[in-house]
Amino acid sequence: MDPQTVWQSVSENLKVQLNPTSYSTWFTKTFLLSLEEKSHHCLAQIGCPSSFAREQIAKNYHHALAQAFEQVTGKKTELILLVKQSSENPAPPPSDGLFAPPTSAQDELLHALRYHHLRPEFSFDNFAVSSTNQMAWAAASAVAKNPGTAYNPLFLYGGVGLGKTHLMQAIAQEVLKASPSSRIIYCTGEDFTNEIVEAIRNKTAARFKEKYRSAKLLLLDDIQFIAGKDRAQEEFFHTFNVIKQDGGQVVLTSDRSPHEIELLENRLRSRFEAGLMIDVPAPDFELRTAILLIKAKQHQLNLSIELAKIIAANLHSPRQLEGFTTRLLSEIQVRQVPLTEDLVKSLLNKTNFSPASPARPLPQEIINLVAKYYSLGPRQLTGHRRLKSIVLARQVTMYLLRTHYQLSLQEVGHLLGDRDHTTVIHSVDKITKVLAQNSLLQEDILRIKQALPG
Ligand code: ADP
Ligand code: MG
Repeated sequence: MDPQTVWQSVSENLKVQLNPTSYSTWFTKTFLLSLEEKSHHCLAQIGCPSSFAREQIAKNYHHALAQAFEQVTGKKTELILLVKQSSENPAPPPSDGLFAPPTSAQDELLHALRYHHLRPEFSFDNFAVSSTNQMAWAAASAVAKNPGTAYNPLFLYGGVGLGKTHLMQAIAQEVLKASPSSRIIYCTGEDFTNEIVEAIRNKTAARFKEKYRSAKLLLLDDIQFIAGKDRAQEEFFHTFNVIKQDGGQVVLTSDRSPHEIELLENRLRSRFEAGLMIDVPAPDFELRTAILLIKAKQHQLNLSIELAKIIAANLHSPRQLEGFTTRLLSEIQVRQVPLTEDLVKSLLNKTNFSPASPARPLPQEIINLVAKYYSLGPRQLTGHRRLKSIVLARQVTMYLLRTHYQLSLQEVGHLLGDRDHTTVIHSVDKITKVLAQNSLLQEDILRIKQALPG
């Protein structure tokens, strides 16, 4: 394994796991000093740019880092964090505009994006649009073209990993493209809250107010975080009023609509509702396929439409798609294996399809549920009749037990009438493949998943 390739994949993996500000604060100047491969584990020495960075990474990101290494190397990885400035790697570009003036418009834009902790790939060009998310895209483009005039605030809400941060950052990127020195601020509700607490403690609240209130474009990601935090809500209320009065634009995202955010002050709720609230919906199959092709292209991964369809049929959130692309890439680069249907299918089998749920339903409940969905008795699923309709339901059950609940091949085989593990492999493969072409089956699986407890 080439350490630089491993580190590149680990970094990509962290970008997916962490919020953009955390990633750029703690990991852009952190690097891999050495990587030793033992028979059962790996040993990685990580260079952190300062002792403060080392402390923060050890305290807050050790788990994420270890997990990223394990995914990339396929082995448990022991981490040793050292304080060391990178000398071989090219120095990271300056972020304060004092050195090395950028040369072209593109450089200038990249420089501005880095300065504001924005991800360059979160652009409108890289955002796939279909009938499902057209409204959100149209509203965001309108705001980017004429900030401060039409919809204020623009409030984007929807489930985790559906593209809110991407759209929000695309607005910022468009504004910076037109004018790289625009006064914009991008931060999360959590950063905003922490910063105000710090400012009060250090008696620098005046500076905090000046900074936020003078923004022409304020992008506050995951605003639901400030609910119930009195001082943050108070400060945000005044900040919002001043920015709006001065003709600036405010864009907010949240995992819920304003009326679903408990402990949100009413005066804020009514301000949010007076702007434009747009739901960012879960993408349909076609949109997921398009997102995958965009992600693959970004990573110079030559993914065919057929393979993209297989993946899109089996994974539902764009964040999972991003994570999957990263996994695929590291598999190909680190292990030097070709991109084939078998590789995709085996990775899909290993992927955690749903967030771990605390109350895991008993496998028997799943069997009962699938049986009910197909109007069969549970015994027919575990039995040995080979009627077409029964076989399909049986294969769907195996697929769900394996992919949704990560049961082992042996466990699945045992639960479905002591079948051999090769039968399970065949069934899961078959469903994985058919899902890409058959929208009826896609819908069946989605409905069943929705009905699953936990
Ligand atoms: P959220 O903020 O809603 O939790 P993100 O904006 O972080 O989600 O999106 C998660 C991932 O999915 C990102 O990699 C993003 O680029 C990708 N993504 C989501 N929607 C789209 C889309 N329509 N086109 C391209 N990529 C998308
Ligand atoms: Mg987000």
